[in-house]
Amino acid sequence: MAKNCLEYINELNDYLDGEIDSSLCAEIEAHIGECNNCRIMVDTMRQTVKLCREGKEEKLPESLEKKLNNLLKARWDKKFGKKS
Ligand SMILES: [Zn+2]
Repeated sequence: MAKNCLEYINELNDYLDGEIDSSLCAEIEAHIGECNNCRIMVDTMRQTVKLCREGKEEKLPESLEKKLNNLLKARWDKKFGKKS
């Protein structure tokens, strides 16, 4: 008997924790392969789980952050004054 999306979603929590037997895991992965809704759900959940586990926000590398700040500052100056 085929399961519906809701049943799969209930199992996805276990799936993401890796606490699931391999046949069920294969079944879920097959469903995700052909169901756009569930695929999006998994991606979202994976992302959330990852962020929760790491317990921190993604941080930009310092060099990149500096570059970004300079870029923003340059634009700001150009837009709001510093007439030379
Ligand atoms: Zn589905």
